[in-house]
Amino acid sequence: MLPAHVALILVDLQYDFLPTGMLPVPEGDRVIPVANTLIPAYRTVVATQDWHPANHGSFAANHPWRKPGQVIELNGLSQILWPIHCVQGTWGAELVDELDQQTITRIFQKGTDPEIDSYSGFYDNGHRKSTGMAEWLKERGITEVHVLGLATDYCVKFTVLDGLQEGFAVTLIRDATRGVDLTEGDVDRAVVDMQGAGAQVQTSSELLATAGLEA
Ligand SMILES: [Zn+2]
Repeated sequence: MLPAHVALILVDLQYDFLPTGMLPVPEGDRVIPVANTLIPAYRTVVATQDWHPANHGSFAANHPWRKPGQVIELNGLSQILWPIHCVQGTWGAELVDELDQQTITRIFQKGTDPEIDSYSGFYDNGHRKSTGMAEWLKERGITEVHVLGLATDYCVKFTVLDGLQEGFAVTLIRDATRGVDLTEGDVDRAVVDMQGAGAQVQTSSELLATAGLEA
């Protein structure tokens, strides 16, 4: 077991982000078994869930003549348009069944406001509203978070960056993440950005060894 001040954040482990989903992350399914080996090492496990209304502004389908991958301005922020994904109440938005969900204490939903996207599990992309995750973790004495999930170059990256900004020590579990790589090199650049901002990068086996568990 890792000490009580360390929490694990599972980012967006939802059907729509698996290779067969609406917004497929290549090899996204590979993250699930790694997550399952890590989960028992943590006393506090939380998850984020992309949870959009059907009229969400990040969906290309909600803008005339726009396609996924194009960039628009959405309420003053640059917005990449995505395929329809993680619509509230749909199967695609559910956490993957194969994920060991028993010890997840709390799920923080994001992207619920149709006017703004939300990559980070802590804040929307304009830092206008908090999801309450930072406060919730701090109330429980958490000072360090370990982050895994999908996708490395979007929701994982911004969760890590916001975590650091909120004053948490943050570790990215590199082999328990996969990225979109819309432009080749995005994933590698995201890791460099996270390290540059102060995040530690570790592998799941390193963490399991620290926790006294077998990889
Ligand atoms: Zn989304």
